[in-house]
Amino acid sequence: MAIQSINPYTLERLKSFEEMTETEIENAITKAHETYQVWKVTSFEERAKVLNKVASIIREKKAELSKLITLEMGKLIKQAEYEIDYAASIFEYYANNAKDFLADEPLKVDFGEAYIKKSPIGVLLGVEPWNFPFYQVARFAAPNIMIGNTIVLKHASNVPQCAQAIEDVFREANAPKGLYTNLFVSGSNVSKIIEDKRIQGASLTGSEKAGSSLAMTAGKYIKKSVLELGGNDPFIVLEDADIDRATDLAVYGRTVNNGQSCIASKRFIVLEPIAEEFLAKFKTKMGALKLGNPLDRETQLGPLSSEEALKTLLDQVSKTISEGAKVEIGGKRADLKGAFMEPTILSNITANMTAYKEELFGPVASFYIVKNDEEAIKLANDTEFGLGGSVFSKNIQRAKNIANQIDSGMIFINHPTKSSTDMPFGGTKRSGYGRELSPLGIEEFVNKKLIRIISENEKL
Ligand code: NAP
Repeated sequence: MAIQSINPYTLERLKSFEEMTETEIENAITKAHETYQVWKVTSFEERAKVLNKVASIIREKKAELSKLITLEMGKLIKQAEYEIDYAASIFEYYANNAKDFLADEPLKVDFGEAYIKKSPIGVLLGVEPWNFPFYQVARFAAPNIMIGNTIVLKHASNVPQCAQAIEDVFREANAPKGLYTNLFVSGSNVSKIIEDKRIQGASLTGSEKAGSSLAMTAGKYIKKSVLELGGNDPFIVLEDADIDRATDLAVYGRTVNNGQSCIASKRFIVLEPIAEEFLAKFKTKMGALKLGNPLDRETQLGPLSSEEALKTLLDQVSKTISEGAKVEIGGKRADLKGAFMEPTILSNITANMTAYKEELFGPVASFYIVKNDEEAIKLANDTEFGLGGSVFSKNIQRAKNIANQIDSGMIFINHPTKSSTDMPFGGTKRSGYGRELSPLGIEEFVNKKLIRIISENEKL
């Protein structure tokens, strides 16, 4: 079956690509494995040269690549440009720091010498989503290439042009053939690739369903996996918070990337004394967003990534409404040609409702009122997810106390959760396991090998 690139704003088909045959996949893995034999003993300096070149080409092609993101998945052009710069900075970060991050670690021992050597493990499979087509790939590929591993990458089927463009950048950077290979395959063919003896690990960013399937196969064949899955992040606002700032950031947190971010703020949990004022301002600001062409720099909210994504979201919203939730604003498909959802706020949500339990991947906010900090923590933790979250208050100690009690991988105080090259990214519970970015992101697919040295003079 062909892999389609469809513009979610115009709903036009832009391009299609054929899926790879079994022989083509076999050849790609063979080449990645051959290249690994050389790359694993290549110096950090040589590896860094390739990645710095990759970064500089990405920066040079910023206008072209960001436009490709916007055309294929609907991201606002300014955010696409930011993503391109960010992806380049991740390649640079690992190119420039990997040697230090992977330095031998001496161990304290009674006699002789011992240390941990961090070695590569082989060919890795990455399975990445469409919502940040360049950034997601960079945060997996950059650290692993610097370790000495090689990469085969299956990107989401709705961003094939971005997928191809990333491989092209590596080719232009004169990377050895097989260092980074794009695989045009469907999700259902991923298991066969993991089974291959030459694949030593697999990382997936995406839904729980896909993550669970990948981890099952990786477990069966005893291969390391990393999963970065969905989230249902709480956004807690205490009564002493600056409500104007908090509502500005609530709109940003819920609608960045047209609402399709795993770390988007999704559940707005507000203390009773300020709940009414917060909701009124939140409604006004969400309602004022300008929907339209994501290539237009004035647009504030673009389409969802596909008609299918919109259908899923509309279905979740209408179920929640029929279960008894109140629509504060929005709730419907927007009156535009593309895959647009109206900015929406739902309230009166109870534990049995769809919006309470599931991740809503679009500009739909769930609004809750709580009496005190304990209720806020209890509600924040009453989810199967544990990715990010945020707490807003002038009282940093009180906010920290709440942050410490929330079961998630990342908590920000006075800002929605954000990703940054130098900070670890990842979740707990059904949001997955493992970490990307920061020094921790380079520790996932390494062999932490013990080297023990005992002098021949040592008594036996
Ligand atoms: P998805 O369907 O799981 O797709 C993600 C990737 O997995 C795609 O490349 C997809 O390929 C592939 N895939 C699908 N089924 C698979 C299977 N059975 N085995 C192996 N791979 C499979 O995810 P989505 O719903 O499009 O993306 C949004 C989800 O990703 C949300 O839940 C979001 O929260 C999560 N996400 C998490 C993070 C994080 O860092 N935690 C970041 C971004 C997004 P095809 O496109 O060919 O189906």
